[in-house]
Amino acid sequence: MRLSKQLIPTLREIPAEAEISSHLFMLKAAMIRKLASGIYIYLPIGQRVLRKVEQIIREEMDRAGAQEVLMSSLIPSELWRESGRWDVFGPEMFKLKDRNDREFCLGPTHEEVFTDLIRNEIKSYRQLPITLYQIQTKFRDERRPRFGVMRSREFIMKDAYSFDTDWDKLDVSFAQMYEAYCRIFDRCGLEYTVVEADSGAMGGKDSKEFMVTSNVGEASIVYCENCGYAANEEKAECLPDTVSNEKMFPPEKIKTPDARTIEELVTFLKTVPNRFVKTLIYKFNDKIIAALVRGDRELNEVKLLNVLKAVEQDLEMADSKTVEEATGAKVGFAGPIGLKGDVLVIVDREIPEMKNFIIGANETGYHIKNINYGRDFKADIVADIRNAVEGDKCPKCGKPIKIKRGIEVGHIFKLGTKYSDALGANFIDEDGNERPIIMGCYGIGVNRTIAAVIEQNHDEKGIIWPMSIAPYHVEIVPVNVSDHIQKNLSERLYKEFQDADIEVLIDDRDLRAGVKFNDADLLGIPIRITVGKKAGENIVELKLRSSDKVEEIAVSEVVEKVK
Ligand code: ATP
Ligand code: MG
Ligand code: MG
Ligand code: MG
Repeated sequence: MRLSKQLIPTLREIPAEAEISSHLFMLKAAMIRKLASGIYIYLPIGQRVLRKVEQIIREEMDRAGAQEVLMSSLIPSELWRESGRWDVFGPEMFKLKDRNDREFCLGPTHEEVFTDLIRNEIKSYRQLPITLYQIQTKFRDERRPRFGVMRSREFIMKDAYSFDTDWDKLDVSFAQMYEAYCRIFDRCGLEYTVVEADSGAMGGKDSKEFMVTSNVGEASIVYCENCGYAANEEKAECLPDTVSNEKMFPPEKIKTPDARTIEELVTFLKTVPNRFVKTLIYKFNDKIIAALVRGDRELNEVKLLNVLKAVEQDLEMADSKTVEEATGAKVGFAGPIGLKGDVLVIVDREIPEMKNFIIGANETGYHIKNINYGRDFKADIVADIRNAVEGDKCPKCGKPIKIKRGIEVGHIFKLGTKYSDALGANFIDEDGNERPIIMGCYGIGVNRTIAAVIEQNHDEKGIIWPMSIAPYHVEIVPVNVSDHIQKNLSERLYKEFQDADIEVLIDDRDLRAGVKFNDADLLGIPIRITVGKKAGENIVELKLRSSDKVEEIAVSEVVEKVK
């Protein structure tokens, strides 16, 4: 491709909105332009890189036995009502109406649509297992779109869904996807950590995130150098060294009593700084209570009180049992809850605004319906924020943990029967019994992956593409295009590369050499061939973008060498 003919309007100035390197270089190298907040268009160079990443993903998905499909972006609300997510997904969902007032959304994710397809098409165990995927545009009205395509409101996701007859087979499908993900991110040249994660609004059990190590990452990775434990911040169940509270709360502000009754504990918690409740770790009657809560604070307070009540009554809580499961009622906010050794854990999902709800512990007969917070009681508990900090105990081996920042590029998890139950996606097993299909789901942010590659592969001048996803492999730079010898030799090489099926870009623009070299560094094509003064002797310069070394080389050897 010729730079003179292609739309590659590189920028000289630093765009004001770019806070991080990948955003800066994607704008400067003319890969993307902003259309509106969190909405980007892709120019030729950006589009080529997108296609390369998609191609790697396709190859690895196909290799793992997954089949590509394409779902619609416009999804009728009925499907989301069936799964119960229409009202709980929250403001991230773009909702719209057609001319007949029927409600739709622009798909932020596609569990419902895939489950709907499968419930209609799959009837027998003989048709399973099956894994389907698509590479498609997703829409999320992010609260804070930022960092260019890293967190945008319209983005491309590869999402895959597996359908199995039992949990053991799901483990196999999950492992296949796990391996495919490693191969994809390895091929993209990324350095990453796989961490234990929480499954968030999608629901489900085992959940792992692929985190690209980067200081600009919005996620925190808790990891242990001793035993290899790694988890994201929400999931990490690290405990402070001692439960003396010294490290949990700022010691100068709080002295924690060893509370024995809920009232004592509540009194204490009132003295804790009034901030958004996120994580509370507290010792209560010799039990360590860890409450990981997110979302609306008042509801969290209620939830917390219920947990404390349950502890007081010494209830045994089944692992992963939810209030919803226990009562069959849709409360919309209860997450898994259970005792893990001495640690009582309650995990809440993002909580929607709710007035009347169910309180109680996860035991049949321990619930009260239609409780109105405020009318029936008010629990004025305020707890401190505390995420894991360096030096906390690793939950696996007890050695001190470390923390680093990461970019979530992929997320895989076991959904189980959450969607197949809700939508009635069943199959007939060998014995003729009807059973729900066991599902898994697997996402990769395609655009975000590109941004992550740039974060890990750049210098102050620009991008340093790994060969695998570089928009072109070779760039030929004639130093002076009005010099006929240089021009002709460049054109000859350009043709030779094309004939050898090597993706080649030629900077045939009539510009100063300095400008062209700057653009070459910015664009980051892995191999640069400079055709300059020695063109007359049939000698050119070869330079890798990743190194400063310049090598003189005979024209006759160039294409062979690059191959
Ligand atoms: P995050 O925690 O960053 O908000 P998520 O957990 O909401 O991401 P998932 O629902 O797990 O995202 O979606 C699968 C993948 O899609 C993510 O791992 C990420 O790579 C990508 N992704 C999610 N949201 C965005 C976004 N707003 N812009 C670009 N990519 C995104
Ligand atoms: Mg998100
Ligand atoms: Mg996430
Ligand atoms: Mg995720």
